[in-house]
Amino acid sequence: MSPHLLLLPQMNLTTLSSPFKSLENLSFPSTNNHSLPSPSFHFNSNPLLQSPGHKFKLTQKPKILPFNTKCSSQVEDIPGVVKEKSVSVILLAGGQGKRMGANMPKQYLPLLGQPIALYSLYTFSEMDEVKEIIVVCDPSYKDIFEDCQEQINVDLKFALPGKERQDSVYSGLQEVDLNSELVCVHDSARPLVLSEDVEKVLKDGWINGAAVLGVPVKATIKEADGESFVVRTLDRKTLWEMQTPQVMKPELLKKGFELVNREGLEVTDDVSIVEHLKHPVYITEGSYTNIKVTTPDDLLLAERILSTSY
Ligand code: C5P
Repeated sequence: MSPHLLLLPQMNLTTLSSPFKSLENLSFPSTNNHSLPSPSFHFNSNPLLQSPGHKFKLTQKPKILPFNTKCSSQVEDIPGVVKEKSVSVILLAGGQGKRMGANMPKQYLPLLGQPIALYSLYTFSEMDEVKEIIVVCDPSYKDIFEDCQEQINVDLKFALPGKERQDSVYSGLQEVDLNSELVCVHDSARPLVLSEDVEKVLKDGWINGAAVLGVPVKATIKEADGESFVVRTLDRKTLWEMQTPQVMKPELLKKGFELVNREGLEVTDDVSIVEHLKHPVYITEGSYTNIKVTTPDDLLLAERILSTSY
């Protein structure tokens, strides 16, 4: 639930706070001597970074069994309850993401000393519903994840990334356990996803077949023509910005991929594959703090969210 802190010996917070040209010089040390301490910080309410009425807290998961906990031999379908160990997470960590100006993909850059991709890996690994995490990454970054295996209670699998994001999702899907009831696709470049939001989207995905975390759009969005003239102003009340995780029943995702590949359809995110099947997709309201770290500004913001929240 809480991100763990891994202080890499060759990195320090001063480096991280300094101008981003310094990121070009960052390199990962040998991972052999990493030892992961137990979770070292928690999120608390952060009024500065919340939308009105929006919760932002990540607290230690209570060590009490939920009321619906059963022995595996007793497990049965309870409407709206996602079963323990029934979810396969596809953690997308492929792609080059050069917009950070660093010498490594954005998802491996250190955020308060720990590679960005490990934050959500730990969040998912502490959830009862998660059976396995399939990391889609270039083999040269595999050891960053492998070094975590001893600290986590879920199976780690690996898949090769594809050229486009969707190719990476497809690659990860090939590794999904046949008994899994939900597939949960997450961008590893979103380190701050809250486990309470993941719980909500898993539940909505289980009830509806497909669900995605999103937040209501705050900005005014206008459609423009090719010459940059406004065509119309979209109704903000109906607009949502999509995030990840995006959750689907595996059979839907497989059928969706068959259709998309057969008809050469363009997809921009995972649930749009399901949308092509004309299957409804539910939007689960998430948190504005679940940012994707894409540019140096985002890394500074993520740093600030983390350091003011525990
Ligand atoms: O580049 P973009 O911001 O769309 O990447 C979103 C997520 O998808 C990132 O976590 C990145 O690691 C992943 N990705 C991938 N394979 C690709 C491209 C992106 O796994 N070919």
